[in-house]
Amino acid sequence: MGAHEDSKVGRVVQVLLPLRLPEGFDYAEPEGMDLAPGDMVAVPLGPRTLRGVVELVRDGVGANRPLKPVASRLDEPRFPKGTLAFVHWAAKYAVDSPGAPLAIALRGLNAPRPRLERRVVATGKRPGRSTPSRSRVLDAASVPLGRAELARMAAVSDGVIRALLEQGCLCVVEMERHSPFTAPDPDLPGSILNPSQAAAAAALGHTVGEGRFTVTLLDGVTGSGKTEVYLEAAALVLKADPGAQVLVLLPEIALTQAVIDRFASRFGGAPAEWHSGVSPTRRRETWEAVATGEARIVVGARSALFLPFGRLGLIIVDEEHDGSYKQEEGFIYQARDLAVARAKIEDCSVVLASATPSLETLYNAQTGRYRWLRLGDRHGAARMPSIELVDLRESPPEAGQWLSPRLTAAMAQTLERGEQALLFLNRRGYAPLVLCRACGERMRAPDSDSWLVEHRYTGRLVCHLTGYSMVKPACCPHCGAKDSLISIGPGVERVEEEARSRFPQARLAVFSSDTVTDAAAARAMIEAMALGEFDIMVATQAAAKGHNFPALTLVGVVDGDLGLRGGDLRAAERTYQLLTQVSGRAGRQERPGRALIQTWAPDHAVMQAIAAGDRDGFMAIELAEREAVGLPPFGRLAALILSGPDPMALEAFARALAAAAPNGDGVIIYGPADAPLALVRGLRRKRFLVRSERSVDLQSFLAAWRARVKIPSRVRLTIDVDPYSFL
Ligand code: ADP
Repeated sequence: MGAHEDSKVGRVVQVLLPLRLPEGFDYAEPEGMDLAPGDMVAVPLGPRTLRGVVELVRDGVGANRPLKPVASRLDEPRFPKGTLAFVHWAAKYAVDSPGAPLAIALRGLNAPRPRLERRVVATGKRPGRSTPSRSRVLDAASVPLGRAELARMAAVSDGVIRALLEQGCLCVVEMERHSPFTAPDPDLPGSILNPSQAAAAAALGHTVGEGRFTVTLLDGVTGSGKTEVYLEAAALVLKADPGAQVLVLLPEIALTQAVIDRFASRFGGAPAEWHSGVSPTRRRETWEAVATGEARIVVGARSALFLPFGRLGLIIVDEEHDGSYKQEEGFIYQARDLAVARAKIEDCSVVLASATPSLETLYNAQTGRYRWLRLGDRHGAARMPSIELVDLRESPPEAGQWLSPRLTAAMAQTLERGEQALLFLNRRGYAPLVLCRACGERMRAPDSDSWLVEHRYTGRLVCHLTGYSMVKPACCPHCGAKDSLISIGPGVERVEEEARSRFPQARLAVFSSDTVTDAAAARAMIEAMALGEFDIMVATQAAAKGHNFPALTLVGVVDGDLGLRGGDLRAAERTYQLLTQVSGRAGRQERPGRALIQTWAPDHAVMQAIAAGDRDGFMAIELAEREAVGLPPFGRLAALILSGPDPMALEAFARALAAAAPNGDGVIIYGPADAPLALVRGLRRKRFLVRSERSVDLQSFLAAWRARVKIPSRVRLTIDVDPYSFL
């Protein structure tokens, strides 16, 4: 008897770790720890101690192997059940381990919790010499304030504060940090909506008021007021339930500030922000505030979808068609699709907003699976821009130039009127290709299958795939000829050069990921443009979306055909969306806008549809084409990407994988074939493409297939469900 009592079996805790493991690991619960699902714990794994989330606690009766005990319970808010369910769902969808999305969900905890903060406060001692700025500082510092905040409030430089600290008139105190998240006030008045907006807001209000899972497409041209409408839906959700939370997803950091400002003025306080530009400390605070329910509105990039919301009432996916919702590396996911899944798990509404919805979303709206709200024209006096195609065969630019006479004439008129022009070319750098005039050698990356792009500002040749770069050589590395390397084709830098030489008086700016490298720079550039500090902006797609530039009346698309080359599944759709969006930057206020699209193929269906403003006609043709060949949304697609340093090993594994493919009804496997990018960073790449009927459980098929092979240590297999890139 006594022996039995000694070996009393405790409870077993299953802990999910943020690592690519097939499932949660079991640990023994130390006596008295009293864990429950959602608790965050530290557990040993090999020599390491890791953070994990308790998934299950069960009686250990029958535990037949000794388990390591949980090391400690962490002082963190509980990880919500819905978020955990979502992590599992996302993993299953992506045919990946749940630890991969969990790692994203826990990223906010990487920085330590900021407990104390340093503030300064007046000591009562008067300064040796009193000045108005010193007095303002000492008045303001009668209560402890952060140093930067004090400088701002007293409108002084930090030097004034430093001097007062040195004299002992101010001192530093360490204080408990207080919550920096202000509660939104949904009772503040919103904008007065126009009739079309009011009708959409009422319908959307009705939908979110149901308080259950629904998906709504909010469809309206750029500038029609979609943001106004979803702000009202958010207000309703926040009002109806004082604990409810709202998540707004945006595709680009550059867009966040404008949306944050609009939420701040609608609800009387800035929402929480979540993207790569947010500091680790601030992320930690935001993560906790989301988990405790204190942060009620979050505006963020795709990874905000993995935040620990306990009470989501509404998810808004703005610019839902945007390709950057697809995360292509690490854990591969499409945030718009996952937003719908998360809303389903949380049983709340999701709103997908766009002027150019994706084919998938439009199809779901047409077939009644999603609700569909359409907004009328632009708000107020603003009109849609007129869109004209410039046939480059008839109005070609001069040799070595890229702007046609028609476009430059329109630019001259625009500048004369004191208005702004935007030249759009979705290509960074100066020239996409550099070749040797003497021997024809093309400059390529040493370790990848890609041409090097010339950047004149930095004088370097850059691989846009991997970031590899080198100084542009004076002699051809192949034949040794001197000064023989010539630049082929334009990038934004070259278009700027041309615009500058044509309009020497104009103030120019280039907006690309090379000139605008973070959120603050994006904000500064957008503000300067909105204030009219530039006459001409040359931009990649970084500036094509969402922004409102009041004096911008002319958009020139330098190469309308660019996106149509290469021809993957979504090439035409993407070109249509991008050109419509960028054209939509023109004429946002009373002044009429105009877009000129330079093209060598004015008869192409995409160009015709854009010129006619016939989105629905264009989408109908695209849908019919996809249906004819069984591509999404009519069929399912997945890519398997194999990569490794050793071509022989890769080839052998590709053959083994092909041989191991299960028989699947309604599944067709193409490949293996060399990937179009067959070499990246020294790794060879091969691809399979799998197409199935809609009714097939493609994820189970892929999981079964992968389970049939042993993946060699020097080969990597990546599964990309619903691929957007075919390279
Ligand atoms: P969308 O999101 O459809 O592109 P926005 O909501 O950004 O449109 O509206 C475009 C512009 O028109 C914004 O500057 C916005 O402030 C203004 N606007 C739209 N609707 C209204 C309204 N009802 N009252 C005042 N301004 C509005």
